[in-house]
Amino acid sequence: MDNIANNIRQIKVLLEEFSINSHRNSDTVKVLAVSKGQGAEKLLAAWHAGIQCFGENYLQEALEKITTLSDINPEWHFIGPVQSNKTKDIARHFSWVHTVDRIRVATRLSEHRQGVAQPLNICIQVNIDSEAGKSGVEPHAILDLANTICELPNLRLRGLMVLPRPRTGFAAERQPFRRVAQLLEELKSNIPQFESLDTLSMGMSNDWAAAIHEGATIVRIGTGIFGPRQTRALKE
Ligand SMILES: *Cc1c(COP(=O)(O)O)cnc(C)c1O
Repeated sequence: MDNIANNIRQIKVLLEEFSINSHRNSDTVKVLAVSKGQGAEKLLAAWHAGIQCFGENYLQEALEKITTLSDINPEWHFIGPVQSNKTKDIARHFSWVHTVDRIRVATRLSEHRQGVAQPLNICIQVNIDSEAGKSGVEPHAILDLANTICELPNLRLRGLMVLPRPRTGFAAERQPFRRVAQLLEELKSNIPQFESLDTLSMGMSNDWAAAIHEGATIVRIGTGIFGPRQTRALKE
C-alpha cells in the first residue's frame, strides 16, 4: 500500500510539472483514480493518500466497493459503457457519468435520478477516431445529444469525454485531445446555454501529459496510481 501513496505523490509532482509546461494552473485539473480491477483496500489506501474521486467501469464490481467504502463516501464516477438496464443503479450511486452517448441512456438516467438532491453530472463521450463499434458519438451528433441532456431535469451537462485510440509520441497524442477541446469550445461559444460547460475528461496513465496540454480538466489514471489491475474486471 506504500506504493499507492508513493505513486500518488509522484502523480502530484508530475501534475505540477505538466501544468507548468502547458502554462496551466494545476488547480484546474482533477485526478480521477480509475479503480476497476482493484480491491477496496487499495481504494482506501488511495483515499488516505489524498484521492477523493474514483472511476469505475463495471457496475456490479463498483457497487460492492461503494458499499464497502460507505464510511468514507468518496465521489464516484462511472466511466464504462452504460447499458440501458443498468441506468437505475448508476443514477442512484454515482455523482458523474462520463460515457453518455445515447438519448435513451440520458433519458433513463434522468428518470432514475429523480429524488436525489444533486443532479447527475454528465459528459458526452466522443468517438473522435470514428472507430466502428466503439462507444461515443461522432462529432456531428454532439449538439443534438447536448440539447436533449440540457432539457432533462435531473442531469447537469458538464462537457465532453474521449478515449482515443492509442498513439505514439506527444505530438500524435495531442491531436485527438485538441480536436475534442475545439468541439467543446465551439459548443460554448456558439450557444449561450452551453457557455457554462467546464469539463474535458481526457488522458490516462500513458497520455495524460498530452491531455493536460490540450486543456483536460479531469484526467483518468488507473495503473499509474494502483499498479497493474488485480482482477480482470468482469464484463457484465
Ligand atoms: C481503464 C480506464 C482508464 C485508466 O486507464 P489506465 O491506463 O490504467 O490509466 C481511463 N479511462 C477509461 C475510460 C478506462 O476504461
